[in-house]
Amino acid sequence: MQLVVIGNGIAALSAIERIRQSDQDCKITLFSQEPYHTYNRLKLSKNITEYYQVDDILVKPESWYQEKNVECYLDTPIVHVDFSKQQVLTVEGEVFPYTHLLLANGASNNIPPIEGIDLERVFALRTYHDAQEIRVVANNFKQILIIGGGLLGLELAWEFYKKDKQVSIVELFPHLLPRQLDEDSACYLEELIIKQGVDLYLCQQIASLIGEHKLAGFTLKNDSQVYPTEVALYSTGIRPNIELYKGSALAINRGVIVNQHMQTNLPNVYAAGDISEYNGRIYGLWSVARTQGQVAADNILGRTTSFVEEAVMANIQVFDQHIISIGTVNGEAMVTAFERTNDLQAIKKLFFSNEQIQGAVLINAPKEALLIKKAINNQVLIPRDLLDSYSSIIEYLQSYLVS
Ligand SMILES: Cc1cc2nc3c(=O)[nH]c(=O)nc-3n(C[C@H](O)[C@H](O)[C@H](O)COP(=O)(O)OP(=O)(O)OC[C@H]3O[C@@H](n4cnc5c(N)ncnc54)[C@H](O)[C@@H]3O)c2cc1C
Repeated sequence: MQLVVIGNGIAALSAIERIRQSDQDCKITLFSQEPYHTYNRLKLSKNITEYYQVDDILVKPESWYQEKNVECYLDTPIVHVDFSKQQVLTVEGEVFPYTHLLLANGASNNIPPIEGIDLERVFALRTYHDAQEIRVVANNFKQILIIGGGLLGLELAWEFYKKDKQVSIVELFPHLLPRQLDEDSACYLEELIIKQGVDLYLCQQIASLIGEHKLAGFTLKNDSQVYPTEVALYSTGIRPNIELYKGSALAINRGVIVNQHMQTNLPNVYAAGDISEYNGRIYGLWSVARTQGQVAADNILGRTTSFVEEAVMANIQVFDQHIISIGTVNGEAMVTAFERTNDLQAIKKLFFSNEQIQGAVLINAPKEALLIKKAINNQVLIPRDLLDSYSSIIEYLQSYLVS
């Protein structure tokens, strides 16, 4: 077998690691657009105001790739794939044949169609290089605009807030973390953030970013005022890097379409991580990319395993709040069980449909998160008479799932 891997994020790395656990001999050649080995992208936002070297956040040291006999071409993007001839072409014009191909070239940031988005001091964060650029510029300015109040946007807002920046957040939806929080929990967070001095614009869209070459302000739709800002960071979703495959025989939609074995429509061609679309869904999550890489590897090795969709868990610490969101927390016909501590510091909420937990929001109450996730994944039926008591449900789950 001659495996070619396009990309070197966590999907690629986890696939290679899995293959080498049982096959030390097959030839593995990896191509990466970035000049580094796989690093932990999650740390980019958490450390956005600090200087560090890429070596500090590598998932595996450089020596690992040598030990595992992986031929690495860093800083060498693939520019064309000829699926019929089974070969890839590098930016330097070199051709490499394959018997098996793993597409793991991830995603890029969505660029919102806003006038002025290409001004200087307007950024999006995806790579180590982006992070260093943002750090250098943002540390020299006071006013930071965050476009998008999702997980990444909030993490960035918090990191800059801690450095005494004047932070504004503009969110299109009526609430922050629209996919992770129900309305009440979002209101709790919003009040707290506003109290701390962040300018929050909910249900608002940026009309334009303003400035001569360099960003100086922004305007909102339905509002003629110009708000001053010096740096802007947009975090408005991702788009899989599918340009490479357009016009080929590979089935693509928003991402590369895969089945539960991470197989594409072409023989011996697999896709995993942010590039892939499974069941109409692009996850954009580290843990899912890792699992999908492992599933792809198993199937490349000829062992049939499947990717099983699980409840997604978001876990962030922002504005001194520990927020965990699991599964589906918004939707119609959801009955909730709710508990709030006397000091109002913790919120624990479960969301049901029929007698099954569909999702949970836990603010400053991380203890039961894994138990609840397990209950969602196992589709545990909760007795009807317990449905409105959070603590009784937890007790029930503890005896049902732990024993
Ligand atoms: C700042 C930030 C914070 C995040 N925080 C979280 C979090 O808290 N929790 C969570 O679950 N997820 C988080 N994510 C998302 C998570 O990092 C991704 O889902 C995950 O990294 C996807 O891994 P991947 O291997 O599929 O793709 P990527 O990590 O995107 O890796 C793909 C690689 O392929 C390379 N590539 C692209 N095109 C080519 C080409 N033509 N040829 C060769 N190489 C190419 C790219 O340069 C890149 O290195 C975060 C993402 C970012 C950016």
